[in-house]
Amino acid sequence: MAIHLYNTLSGEKEKFEPLQAGKVSFYVCGPTVYDYFHIGNARPFIIYDVFRRFLQYRGYDVKYVVNITDVDDKIIQRSIKENRTAKEVADEFTKAYFDDLDQLLVKLPDVSPKATEHLDDMITLVQELVAKGIAYVLDGDVYYSIEKFQSYGKLSGKNIEDLQAGSRVEIDERKENPLDFALWKAAKPDEPAWDSPWGKGRPGWHLECSAMSMKYLSKDFDIHAGGEDLIFPHHENEIAQSCGSGNVKFAKYWLHNGFLNIRDKKMSKSIGNVLIVRDILKSYKPQVLRLFFLQKHYRSPINYSEEILEDAQRGWERLQNLFDNLNSIEIDSNSLQLKSLTNKEKEFKNFQERIKQEYISAMEDDFNTALAIGKVFELVKECNIIITRGNLTENQKLLLVNVKEFIVEVDEILSILDNDEHDSSGEEELSKVLDLLVGIRSELRKNKLWDLSDKIREELASIGYVIEDQPEKSIWKKEKT
Ligand code: AMP
Ligand code: ZN
Repeated sequence: MAIHLYNTLSGEKEKFEPLQAGKVSFYVCGPTVYDYFHIGNARPFIIYDVFRRFLQYRGYDVKYVVNITDVDDKIIQRSIKENRTAKEVADEFTKAYFDDLDQLLVKLPDVSPKATEHLDDMITLVQELVAKGIAYVLDGDVYYSIEKFQSYGKLSGKNIEDLQAGSRVEIDERKENPLDFALWKAAKPDEPAWDSPWGKGRPGWHLECSAMSMKYLSKDFDIHAGGEDLIFPHHENEIAQSCGSGNVKFAKYWLHNGFLNIRDKKMSKSIGNVLIVRDILKSYKPQVLRLFFLQKHYRSPINYSEEILEDAQRGWERLQNLFDNLNSIEIDSNSLQLKSLTNKEKEFKNFQERIKQEYISAMEDDFNTALAIGKVFELVKECNIIITRGNLTENQKLLLVNVKEFIVEVDEILSILDNDEHDSSGEEELSKVLDLLVGIRSELRKNKLWDLSDKIREELASIGYVIEDQPEKSIWKKEKT
């Protein structure tokens, strides 16, 4: 099946056909770096990175850009309050943003452009709009005249009258239309400012994303994504700026994630319920947090509470436990291929193939990670039944190893497992030391030195490793916690 995406622009699920065969250009509105990012911000950062990885898995060459808004009212307000420069504030929280992404197992974007490093591109775009008569200058400010752009409102699905009635924009008598928005803001005292043809000033927020997306992905590109709060005015204005500047279609597919609420309430500083990611990560593994997000369809609202996170924790434990069990399956080197299968084994083989197909179909259907993960859990359940029954046949072992390989593939996209293979160097050394100890213990046993051999067994057990004496040899295993 082909990939289908829900496009906010058409209000429908559409077949995904990138502008250039085999390539995907993907832009996500990134953070405004004035504070540590909160659990709501984590949603777009996690899910769009997963979508990008899935597209790569399907063979696309993806260019993934996530901007950094490092000049903005909130940054300036904080810098004034803390008596330091806006740059110092932005630098501190840009670093924190990258640290937190790393903690959350989010892969780095291909480009993370900063607004303050793209002033020239923004000024050029404003000049084009002024030259076309779509933007007008007012005392060092430059405004976009929305009435000059025929399709203004096409993303949010509203016409200008509706928007005027419903908006809370400040009435500024000088503007031609109250909805006209600032492309360039004249400098105020103590604010960061750059030279421009209209005097010193700073760019408007919407302008940053138009300029940086077109710079790194070309004027027409495939996917533009962000939280649903950005549909209006941010993305509507980006379209107006970019398409208004020339013969530009701008983004083809617009994806928007639903919002995260805390215990059914909007997260806000005034309620005092803002939860930052680094605090949550003190109590929960990043994999649990990722599972929490990915078990919900990205367009649905998502509710956060400790109880819901505990559910995610339990689900994660089941998955991780199975993965650890699958990892400890040892295949006899004489039976690396399936021999004639019993009916039950055939049934299980068909089942696991069907689950894999259904997982992929779910991901292809507007990145339905919730359904996809549901499929993985169906597999977990079946595997647990087989493993609990015990006495695995060589065929069953091979089939379970296939399951493990599938789960590893899934994890390369979702990163929901604690996969020791991620940093195997220390593990390998430990494993050699344990092999050595088990070997020494076997020698001790041969020489009937029971006290010493028992001591090794007990000491290893006390740090979580059990020794199993099998007819041919003794082996060690990590105790399940
Ligand atoms: P900001 O730093 O506020 O510009 O937001 C960065 C990204 O997080 C944007 O894509 C926002 O739409 C998104 N976002 C902000 N708050 C939430 C929330 N509560 N739930 C989901 N996404 C959010
Ligand atoms: Zn943006």
